[in-house]
Amino acid sequence: MSEQKINLIDLHTHSVNSDGTYTPSQIVSEAHEKGLKAVALTDHDCVFGLDEFERAGQEYGLETINGIEFASYYESQVSKKKEIHIVGLFIDKNDKTILDKTKTILEQRIERNKKMTKRLTELGFPMTYEELCALAGHNHCSRTHYALLMVKKGYVKDKNEAFAKYFANNMPAYVPRILPTPSECIEMIKNSGGIPILAHPTLYWMNDEQIESMAKDLRQKGMEGIEVMYSTYNTRQQYIISNIAEKYGYLKSGGSDFHGLNKAGISLGTGKGNLAVPYEFLVGLKERKEKK
Ligand code: AMP
Ligand code: MN
Ligand code: MN
Ligand code: MN
Repeated sequence: MSEQKINLIDLHTHSVNSDGTYTPSQIVSEAHEKGLKAVALTDHDCVFGLDEFERAGQEYGLETINGIEFASYYESQVSKKKEIHIVGLFIDKNDKTILDKTKTILEQRIERNKKMTKRLTELGFPMTYEELCALAGHNHCSRTHYALLMVKKGYVKDKNEAFAKYFANNMPAYVPRILPTPSECIEMIKNSGGIPILAHPTLYWMNDEQIESMAKDLRQKGMEGIEVMYSTYNTRQQYIISNIAEKYGYLKSGGSDFHGLNKAGISLGTGKGNLAVPYEFLVGLKERKEKK
């Protein structure tokens, strides 16, 4: 029997530069060890890790893709305002618009985080902004870092309790951020030579009809790819999203959303164990990239 080698990739990961626990080099080294054929770094709203990531790729002889994951708000007749995520693959990490915009987003994040620290202290969970940054190792802290600080201080038993009771959207400690529109994210990514991908559409508390309507709308607004494979999709969700991809002419993408120890149970490349994103997805994305 001839054995066919299947080449697997991961196009959605986070490093210590946002809310993951691996450095960009460690992500590349682990991808190499696991035999992945390519890996993308898609830190939240920032490009800080991409120089190191690219260098590590060259060192290990592994194909790396420079990426980002923008948060945005989506609102339409069929869906009330929701935070959605847009992954940009093949972005230019030196693009001036992306550098300026991510700087503004970071300044707004810092302002929001200071408000959240105050709110938590008022809620009976004293903490300082400095403690939060010390835990994160930088000043681009997210709600994940707040949840970890709450656990560290013994205010909650684990990260899930922290999100369920305090940090999930509309819970008492949640302070919304100022975010770019989907069209702004799409334009920024495309203008830097990248491909905009609708990330994990099953995570937005939408039903099938709302997901399809959003995907149709965003396709018209220039979105080019969609994550048809993702760590938490069940068979049904993967089927639904793949159908949407085919119906509206989306390029297929997929990834684990690896965060190291900050997302327990999600491994690089394999997700919860059964994720398998084929290299063919990357071939399709690269063909589009070359046409740009
Ligand atoms: P922020 O960018 O500060 O609004 O924080 C968002 C981050 O919090 C996301 O990138 C996720 O990693 C994490 N997050 C959001 N919602 C949840 C949730 N319900 N459970 C666990 N983590 C979450
Ligand atoms: Mn995250
Ligand atoms: Mn996301
Ligand atoms: Mn992510």
